[in-house]
Amino acid sequence: VPPAPREVSGTSPASPDVLPRVIGTDALVPLDGGGSVAYANFDYPASAPCLEAVHEAVTRALPYYSSVHRGAGYASQVTTEAYEKARETVRGFLGAWTRAAVVFTRNTTDAMNLLAHAAPPGTTAVVFETEHHASLLPWKRAVRLPAPATPAEAIAAADRALAAAPTGPRLLVVTAASNVTGEVWPIAELARTAHAHGARIAVDAAQYVPHRPFDMTALGVDYVAFSGHKLYAPFGAGVLAGRSDWLRAAAPYLKGGGASGSVGDHGDRVLWSSDAQQRHEAGTPNVLGAIALAAACETLAGTGWDALVEREERLLARLRAGIAAIPGVRELTLWGKGNPRVGIVTFVVDGWNARDAALTLSGTYGVGVRDGRFCAHPFVQHLLGGEEGGSCDGPHGTAVRAGFGLGTTEEHVDRLLEALSELAARPR
Ligand code: PLP
Repeated sequence: VPPAPREVSGTSPASPDVLPRVIGTDALVPLDGGGSVAYANFDYPASAPCLEAVHEAVTRALPYYSSVHRGAGYASQVTTEAYEKARETVRGFLGAWTRAAVVFTRNTTDAMNLLAHAAPPGTTAVVFETEHHASLLPWKRAVRLPAPATPAEAIAAADRALAAAPTGPRLLVVTAASNVTGEVWPIAELARTAHAHGARIAVDAAQYVPHRPFDMTALGVDYVAFSGHKLYAPFGAGVLAGRSDWLRAAAPYLKGGGASGSVGDHGDRVLWSSDAQQRHEAGTPNVLGAIALAAACETLAGTGWDALVEREERLLARLRAGIAAIPGVRELTLWGKGNPRVGIVTFVVDGWNARDAALTLSGTYGVGVRDGRFCAHPFVQHLLGGEEGGSCDGPHGTAVRAGFGLGTTEEHVDRLLEALSELAARPR
């Protein structure tokens, strides 16, 4: 059982010139009309570029590239130690309690599926339709709640749904920051609500942890999931952290070496590891991915969140004010303009379908955005309301997303705004 909530500890400030650097900020991209321009990357919510510090950590680990938990050789010992240290770094980064399980997965999708696998039979998941598909879809039995009109309504709706849910284990699944609107959800209040009903809460923090400190003990969160590739580390490593009892009791997620404590009788008598982590990390794990992910955690936390947040707020305010000033470009929000949010802005451009707008932003201006429904189809449909075939006339209603991070500059923001002004002035 997690210890009682505690206050989030203060963050040490850092001056902007010591902000961590990402790789690729000077990369050139070709323009349709010929020539090239420095890439203005606004696709961070999909996958963020790698931090230099992450690259260095992986480079340091490579000479000792070896198996973990099995070999007796020196390299194997060093690699095992680095892998387990990575786990402890992630534990600290998430504010997880000492005995919480920290399982390395492939990504957030894998982490949520692992949790759905480990939840006891008969568990009811309560989940808002605003979730990313990774958190919306894995549950065997789910109560789906419509998009709430306000944060207070989200809490009230969760309260009602948990009260009405069938008896048996219940799990409230909710995002900390939306991958569509960047809006931040009231996690501490939702955790209290879940616990008041004897339910648990699982938080999808994929879009939150690259932008804000997350302390699962202080928030009273039972499970959290995130992906390394959205946190300035390479693809292929993610995390599920939280209570270990369901994980220890469930059948191994994958069956094989590492998860098995002992195997006898020609493979018929298997004693699975009772360690919640090992039980669900069968096979040779993604050691470099874990080391890279932990290096990203260490770098962000070591920088001091105040500096990171201050810079992001400044760029976000510039982008949102600029968009608000362009007739024909409209930002999509669930809860209006005042709600706290991370550096993600989704919008529609009158007279343009999202795909053409995104391709033009890339080919004419060197600005990389994402268009579509962002693996959150019900949510985007809700945000666009009756607009299908209107200002955002993709076949199902789509939008454009600009999300940013450590490599983003004011020049990038201004270039995006200038491009949007030009697009809005000449509808297709
Ligand atoms: N949850 C959120 C909020 C996301 O934004 C994403 C990815 O876009 C995911 C989950 C899934 O992440 P992954 O593709 O790394 O599994």
